Amino acid sequence: MSRIAITGALFVDMGEGHAIRSGDRAGQITYKRQPRARYECLTCRATEGPVEGPAAVARFVAEVRAVHAARCGTPAARQAA
Ligand SMILES: [Zn+2]
Repeated sequence: MSRIAITGALFVDMGEGHAIRSGDRAGQITYKRQPRARYECLTCRATEGPVEGPAAVARFVAEVRAVHAARCGTPAARQAA
């Protein structure tokens, strides 16, 4: 039997907005409230982020576990908290 350990929590607020349906910007989203994300490590108690904006959130979600794992428990991680 395997044991599952929760090592961190990724919080993502998708923001509030709507997709533009026509014109030059069709398919883009305008935000009333920007998307936000932050990551809390349960091992070293550091928090990464928060970041704001759709591009920053997408990059953060894709990379934060690896980025944090590289500095988990280090002084740099504690400073980020
Ligand atoms: Zn950590």
